Amino acid sequence: MPQEDRTINHSLSLICAHCHRCGRRSALGQGDAKLLPAVETAEPPPRLRCDMCGGRRVTLFNASGPVEMLAFLSGRI
Ligand SMILES: [Zn+2]
Repeated sequence: MPQEDRTINHSLSLICAHCHRCGRRSALGQGDAKLLPAVETAEPPPRLRCDMCGGRRVTLFNASGPVEMLAFLSGRI
C-alpha cells in the first residue's frame, strides 16, 4: 500500500451528514471509512437515514477537521 498517509488522514476525518429533506445537518462521528462507500454515487446506502425525519436523501460530508465540521454544521459549506 503506497498511500499510508491517506489512511492516517482518514482516521482523523469527521463524518457529517446533511439531510436534503428536512435540512438537518449532523455529525456522525470520527472518520470511519466504511461509512463513506457511497459518497460518489447518487444513492446513499440504505442504512443511512436522517435521525430527524427518517429521510434517505442524506449526503455525507467528510470533514478534514473540527473546524471544517463546524463550518459544515452551521451551513457555511
Ligand atoms: Zn431529515
